[in-house]
Amino acid sequence: DLWQGIDFSRSKAEARVDGSTGVKFCDVAGIDEAVEELQELVRYLKNPELFDKMGIKPPHGVLLEGPPGCGKTLVAKAIAGEAGVPFYQMAGSEFVEVLVGVGSARIRDLFKRAKVNKPSVVFIDEIDALATKRQGIFKESTDHLYNAATQERETTLNQLLIELDGFDTGKGVIFLAATNRKDLLDPALLRPGRFDRKIRIRPPGSKGRHDILKIHASKVKMSESVDLSSYAQNLPGWSGARLAQLVQVAALMAVRNRHNSILQSDMDDAVDRLTIGPKRVGIDLGYQGQCRRATTEVGVALTSHLLRRYEHAIVECCDRIAIVPRGQTLSQLVFHRLDDESYMFERRPQLLHRLQVLLGGRAAEEVIYGRDTSKASADYLADASWLARKILTIWNLENPMVIHGEPPPWRKSVKFVGPRLDFEGSLYDHYNLIEPPLNFKMDDQVAQRTEELIRDMYQKTVSLLRRHHAALLKTIKVLLDQEEIRGEEIEFILNKYPPQTPLYLLE
Ligand code: ADP
Repeated sequence: DLWQGIDFSRSKAEARVDGSTGVKFCDVAGIDEAVEELQELVRYLKNPELFDKMGIKPPHGVLLEGPPGCGKTLVAKAIAGEAGVPFYQMAGSEFVEVLVGVGSARIRDLFKRAKVNKPSVVFIDEIDALATKRQGIFKESTDHLYNAATQERETTLNQLLIELDGFDTGKGVIFLAATNRKDLLDPALLRPGRFDRKIRIRPPGSKGRHDILKIHASKVKMSESVDLSSYAQNLPGWSGARLAQLVQVAALMAVRNRHNSILQSDMDDAVDRLTIGPKRVGIDLGYQGQCRRATTEVGVALTSHLLRRYEHAIVECCDRIAIVPRGQTLSQLVFHRLDDESYMFERRPQLLHRLQVLLGGRAAEEVIYGRDTSKASADYLADASWLARKILTIWNLENPMVIHGEPPPWRKSVKFVGPRLDFEGSLYDHYNLIEPPLNFKMDDQVAQRTEELIRDMYQKTVSLLRRHHAALLKTIKVLLDQEEIRGEEIEFILNKYPPQTPLYLLE
């Protein structure tokens, strides 16, 4: 008999007794509200009798809901760890089997073991795999395997509900379940006496990200000089899991680069790896190509620094530029983000400054190469015209701008999504939230105004960079020599070569 000796009904859940999950609340950051609520469960697990005596009904089942990688499993483990009780973990998918009766047997087994070892914590990860909405009366499909699987899942879910109901409160077992798709769950599961407490585990904000980085940095050898807060600020939307991975990758880079501890450059390398991709060897741009890339990137970066310095613009300044082929890109320009509020209600002057920054690439090419421009700055130009169109149409920031006739066709279906928190890649993804069809027919007037606006801003940028020709050349030179340049170095160069520095003074 093929199946002999294999006990399918036993759940694979491993109990780690005596809080040896080893996780404590101090290992969790960025979800303070949730932790605050969950403290109560720990107090209960530590002393269930006290709750009984006082006549307090303990919480029954708690549903942790939120996006992946934000610490649901971690916080569940921390509850068991803090209380020092056994922790039983299983994934919803482990209950879903095609073999009839296996899933429900596993449920029975899991609950039995948790009861025997109470007080304890039972954690079912991805409960949506097991507990999607039942179809009520079983609908026959012509696919027999599908029928069997659906029926089996429903039987398993029924068993789970029976076990939850059969559990008297005050029995010293806490049920936790995690999902990122609460909408899919069978409503029966969320009724009173079952998973009736819901706690949202949110993605961390910038302070949370900083705290998470600190936790993970404390587990590796991180150099004191690394400024974790700037990474927290500049990586919006990153989950705890991603940040943990960042620190791990940075540690690997440090080892590879033979550093004694993780340096800023290792962290930067790790960020680039995780966002853009690993360095590509074997792609050679050639010296001319490198000069073009450097000119474009420096043009954009320098424009933002100049606008901040001389026109008090609220635009991002450059963190670093690299001309190293990586992933799909030939060079990278990384900006410091402003605080989130700055993006909420940007005003026209701010957006026009940003438009100038985007045009800085082509403008720099013109300053250096004259009319002989290349496609190196094409991406920035595309971003620029898109931004200009949005200033004029969706945001309608140019008063009194009247758009005659029908609004552009995409206008009607536009939904405001709000600043996206998880943008990656291009800084200006931020503005690409609502993508109109590529070849939409624009109102003639809008088209004309877009062109004018771009031309105006372009001319301004060209003259700005001409005034700083020396600084532009110097920055490009340094970038070509080092393949990388940091924002502080750009500031240094700007101090050294003020406006109108004659070129013969260049070192
Ligand atoms: P989820 O269960 O929500 O998908 P996990 O708890 O499995 O996420 O997170 C995976 C790993 O990411 C954790 O083991 C931990 O190293 C890290 N992590 C995630 N969220 C946090 C957090 N809030 N604080 C500290 N580390 C975190």
